[in-house]
Order: sequence, then structure tokens, then C-alpha cells
Amino acid sequence: MTPEGLALLRRAAAELSLDLSAQEGQFARLLELLQAGNQRLNLTALKTEEDIILKHFIDSLTTLRGGHLNGEWRTLDLGTGAGFPALPLALAQPKLSLVPLDSIRKKIDFVRETAQALGLSQVTPLVGRAETLGQSEEHRGQYDRVVARAVAALPVLAELALPLLRVGGLFGAQKGPISDEELNAGRRAAGEVGGRVVEVDEFNLPISGDARTLIVLEKQRPTPAKYPRREGVPTHQPLFWKAK
Ligand code: SAH
Repeated sequence: MTPEGLALLRRAAAELSLDLSAQEGQFARLLELLQAGNQRLNLTALKTEEDIILKHFIDSLTTLRGGHLNGEWRTLDLGTGAGFPALPLALAQPKLSLVPLDSIRKKIDFVRETAQALGLSQVTPLVGRAETLGQSEEHRGQYDRVVARAVAALPVLAELALPLLRVGGLFGAQKGPISDEELNAGRRAAGEVGGRVVEVDEFNLPISGDARTLIVLEKQRPTPAKYPRREGVPTHQPLFWKAK
């Protein structure tokens, strides 16, 4: 990481009231691994140091807003891609136990290698689909927290994430600006799968000022057995929402 990159990381973290001074070396290493992995595997569209620091690292850490991840929570990152938000969260919040999930094996292989290189033993990446995990005894109802960044429309996410949570668990969906239409469909979908939208936190990303929304759902009752529906159906026939 260049001195400019380090200054940017510090300034943006301070805007989120985070002190990352103990983890700066690890963030620098993550940046290197991501840039090397990207040349090999084409993992992410963001390639410049500034973009990776702001739009991957800092953006991922905005899931810490509201304090919902302050705890020894068993947390699943649904559709982690190259490891976001899971890897920055693991660095900033070492008490979390994290399961980065993605259906694409090469992405999970990268996340696993990277977690190992960073010494993150509390990160256990998994190849699979949320629809399958949500109907498996091993994963259904087993998580305290689920997070997802830039994966699907809110009604789709509600159906994929809520089955994985225990009653009382929370799901944080990271999005850009969200339309009233999507939010309303998300509220109805949440009700259908056993939960409720409890927070809509609109804010701007540090430095760039890009609009972001963190939507928090709480699971309040067990999810009906028919959810999640089989692979692909939540996306192609979203609850209360027109498929794109
Ligand atoms: N969260 C990452 C990646 C977003 S791209 C980031 O913000 O950078 C969305 C990712 O979700 C893709 O890697 C895709 O493979 C994965 N994905 C989409 N639907 C999924 C599902 N049902 N189960 C598991 N992974 C899924």
C-alpha cells in the first residue's frame, strides 16, 4: 500500500469512527493479494488502489454501523465474491466467526487462500448456494447474523437469508440507494419468511460521498418450510416483486 493509500484508509476509517491502526499491515497485505488474484482470476472490476480501499475495504466496514456485529456472532456472508464484506470484517472484528459463501468455486478458493495467508482462522469459506444451505439441517437456523453486499433485490435476499438465521438473528443487506418499491416488496417478503425490516440506514460512503443503504432485517419467527424455494426460483420469481 502506498503512503497515499494508507492515508486514505486512515481518513476513511476515522469517518466511520474505526481505529484500524493495529490492522493496517493486514489491510496492506489484503490489497496485494487482491491485486495479484485479480490478474490471475479477474475477481473484481475495481482495480486501482484507491477504489479497492474505498469501495471494497471501507464499504465493507460500513456493515459495522449500528453495532449489530459487535459480538461473537456466527456470521454468514451470502454471495461473498472475492470476500466482501467478509474479509475486511474479519480483520476489523476478530471476534466474529465468519462463513463466506459463494456458489462459484474459484472465488471461494481465492477467499480461502487469502484468509489463510492473513492468518484468519475464524474464517471458514464455503462453496454452495444459499437455497441449498437454507434447506439443510446443518445450516438452516444456525446463524446469528447474515450479511450480503450487492447480491440481489431485497425480496430475493430476504428469502435467501432469513431461513439461515436463528430466531432473533439479524440480516444486514448492503445496497446503493433503494427505491420505495423495492423496500416495500422487501418488507412484505420479510413478513412472509418470518421477519421484519427493523432499520433502513441511509448514509454516504466516506470520501467519495456515494449513497449507500444498510437495511437490517430481524428474524422473529421460524421460516415456513417451503422457503427458500429451490435453486434459482427466489431470483426468477421474487416474492412480491417483478423479476428483472
Ligand atoms: N459480495 C461481493 C460479491 C457481489 S457479486 C461484493 O460485494 O463484492 C454477487 C455474488 O453472489 C456472486 O459472486 C455470485 O456468485 C453470488 N451469489 C448470487 N446468488 C447466490 C446464491 N443464491 N448462493 C450463493 N452465492 C450467490
